[in-house]
Amino acid sequence: MYTTPYINGTPIEEPPSYFSDVINPATLRPFAKVLMARPDHMRKAIDAAYAAKDSWGHTLAAERELILQRAANALESSRQEVVDLLIDEAGSTFGKAQFEVSFTVNMLRAVSGEARRIQGSVMPADVPGMISIALRRPLGVVAGIAPFNFPLVLGTKKVCLALAAGNTFILKPSEETSLLGLKIAEVFQKAGLPAGVLNVVPGDGPTHGPVLFTDQRVRLISFTGSTAVGKMIALECAKHGKKVILELGGKSPLIVMKDADLDYAVSTACFGIFIHQGQICMAGSRIIVEAPIYGAFLERFVAKAKTLKVGDPRDPRTVIGPLIRTSQCGLIDGKIKESVALGARVLIGGTHEGNFYQPTVIADVKPGMPAFRDELFGPVAAVVKADDPDHALKLANDTAYGLSSAVLTNDLQLAMKFAMELEAGMVHINGPTVHDEATVPFGGVKDSGSGREGGHWSMDELTETKWITIQMGQRPYPF
Ligand code: NAD
Repeated sequence: MYTTPYINGTPIEEPPSYFSDVINPATLRPFAKVLMARPDHMRKAIDAAYAAKDSWGHTLAAERELILQRAANALESSRQEVVDLLIDEAGSTFGKAQFEVSFTVNMLRAVSGEARRIQGSVMPADVPGMISIALRRPLGVVAGIAPFNFPLVLGTKKVCLALAAGNTFILKPSEETSLLGLKIAEVFQKAGLPAGVLNVVPGDGPTHGPVLFTDQRVRLISFTGSTAVGKMIALECAKHGKKVILELGGKSPLIVMKDADLDYAVSTACFGIFIHQGQICMAGSRIIVEAPIYGAFLERFVAKAKTLKVGDPRDPRTVIGPLIRTSQCGLIDGKIKESVALGARVLIGGTHEGNFYQPTVIADVKPGMPAFRDELFGPVAAVVKADDPDHALKLANDTAYGLSSAVLTNDLQLAMKFAMELEAGMVHINGPTVHDEATVPFGGVKDSGSGREGGHWSMDELTETKWITIQMGQRPYPF
């Protein structure tokens, strides 16, 4: 297992006293050591990525495709080890960890094909005998900054899309999931990726961000994380003339219309807010229910939430594992307390032991309450009553965020009205707000970010368009 920055194809050598403890969020005990990088390590990583960019940029699509497929196989064959790490380092439950590995293997295979599908165009020219073409070239060096919650999926997504487009890459994983970031390096090394093409530099944001933002050789920053940090990064990128992709926070609405099947609505709501303890950008954290079924929904939703097992993430029956950090529990407590003071009712949960926050359902949540407005990033469902479909739409859009959204109804006209008018990058009809695939345009609007991650949308973001003309014969000039 790599436990030091991975730069130019080699782990760094440093004395053991420089290493920090890695804490298991469930037990709150250290279980491994990792060397957090210094700014000079980050500069070396940029040097390595820059030195490798021309040869990698000239590889055949078939070679890049093969490396990504081999990476999928390498990851699949280390499944058990990676599942263990997702549990120990990221606080994933057993089920979430298995899902995360499967998703990532599938994503690597799907994205491998993107390398071949990068397309340009031929345009009619205004000069006789001229052929006018636009083609896409890699940017060169791209850097990614990733969050803690789905560290394998989100780190690998940034890496594989950038490599498929012919770029070299520097990944700065979350300081809370450094080992999982380094695991991605190991998988690509096993796949035969040449040295320098991928570099993984663990460490905290304020240490490494400025090195990446100010180095002119880094052409694009692909950031996934909180809105506050994302906005700061966007400013830095603007200042230094860099492209930026922002995948930020959310407060996604799940809208339940009165004709929805109640049991299906309850299962959809539970999955959308309680998977990975609510630590998902797309979590359906505002559940907007039409008045005629509001009471019945709440009754069944609370009954189901009571059945969710909280505790040992290694137990396959566990649904709710630990939150990543203890301070998050205090933050959630405060937001719930404030919402209750404004009239909300806690029907279940609202307490925690260690990092284990109980599945929580708050009813009668209204705009202006923190439970309605703020991303809590925990297992907290805010249930909101809507008078009718128009009121539900108004409530759903009453947020600074715009990542995912979902509506449960069998009325096609109504479903399409929501699909067109919800202010969100993604709308799911008759499904949960939590859904991702490798080749879809994943991303948000408003404070949830800009740019899309996935499939050919990423190929567009991660390349630059070059216009080339070829004059057949000689063209006439006016003088
Ligand atoms: P975070 O913003 O605290 O950290 C994300 C990354 O940014 C980490 O690698 C961190 O080290 C880095 N960072 C922090 N400060 C920095 C700075 N000053 N300069 C440079 N880098 C800096 O987020 P988190 O707690 O790791 O993750 C949770 C957040 O991520 C939530 O808001 C969630 O909604 C969001 N998220 C969004 C998506 C999406 O696709 N839209 C996916 C997952 C998570």
